[in-house]
Amino acid sequence: MSFDCDRCGACCRNIRLSVFYDEELDRGDGVCKHLTEENLCDIYKTRPLFCNIDAYYEDYLTDKISREDFYKINHEACERLKNLTGQGNRGIFRRVKLGAE
Ligand code: SF4
Ligand code: SF4
Repeated sequence: MSFDCDRCGACCRNIRLSVFYDEELDRGDGVCKHLTEENLCDIYKTRPLFCNIDAYYEDYLTDKISREDFYKINHEACERLKNLTGQGNRGIFRRVKLGAE
């Protein structure tokens, strides 16, 4: 099981809204410098732990919350971020383009 991210990129485009904000990642406008034009992470395999929901869960939370509940919290946060920024459709468009939906 892994977190179902639709790759909308809203989190990577609004890193200043994250509780884990890292100035080092900010290209100067709140967008992560590692986000590509295709809405992908160019350091995906070595991305920070706070960008990796499954690894973060496994390192810190397995004895505190169920994986399902952690996913639910994160999905709710994703939806709030998408609504706040109006950037939620990117993932849908991308999935349609890739034939995922
Ligand atoms: S906001 Fe959520 S769904 Fe969108 S890219 Fe980030 S983790 Fe994935
Ligand atoms: S490092 Fe990658 S996953 Fe993390 S905010 Fe930047 S682009 Fe997104």
